[in-house]
Amino acid sequence: TDVEELLLSRIRDVADYPEPGVMFKDITPLLADPAAFTALTDAFAEIAERTGATKIVGLEARGFILGAPVAVRAGLGFIPVRKAGKLPGATLSQAYDLEYGSAEIEVHAEDLTADDRVLVVDDVLATGGTAEASIRLVHRAGAAVAGVAVLMELSFLDGRPRLQAALDGAPLEAL
Ligand code: IMP
Repeated sequence: TDVEELLLSRIRDVADYPEPGVMFKDITPLLADPAAFTALTDAFAEIAERTGATKIVGLEARGFILGAPVAVRAGLGFIPVRKAGKLPGATLSQAYDLEYGSAEIEVHAEDLTADDRVLVVDDVLATGGTAEASIRLVHRAGAAVAGVAVLMELSFLDGRPRLQAALDGAPLEAL
């Protein structure tokens, strides 16, 4: 579609970043273009409405930039999922494996309730580890997952099959 072509045209491939052999997808040209950023926000907001989301969860750090305007556009609350140690209140934490070592993410437990259906928003789905850990956090907070929405899915890294069990039928939408 025209929107997909516009979005794709505003993503920059950066070779050998952050380390040799990696082709980094840089979304800063998209953020700098109001037509593209608005089109992306509208597309995410449509997913939020279609899936019956009641809250937007954004994943640090680019999921904050992309998710916050979606929350405003869709009239929903925004909940940050942060790297461990950044949130001041009572948190739930979830550890997950990286290629080398592990990482931990957290959410404020009181921000989600049993009545919530959460749309998880991020820029890139790579191995799916971050999204899978986020879904776990949402479930452990007692809320349901309406879906996961990302700008880009790097399908050769097999994030989608990895997320399948955790999603339990909820959609993974990649624009
Ligand atoms: P995963 O956990 O392996 O799926 O990695 C996804 C996380 O890493 C997301 O929060 C992304 O923001 C980040 N990420 C991985 N690859 C890229 C990339 O090429 N561009 C931007 N972010 C990336």
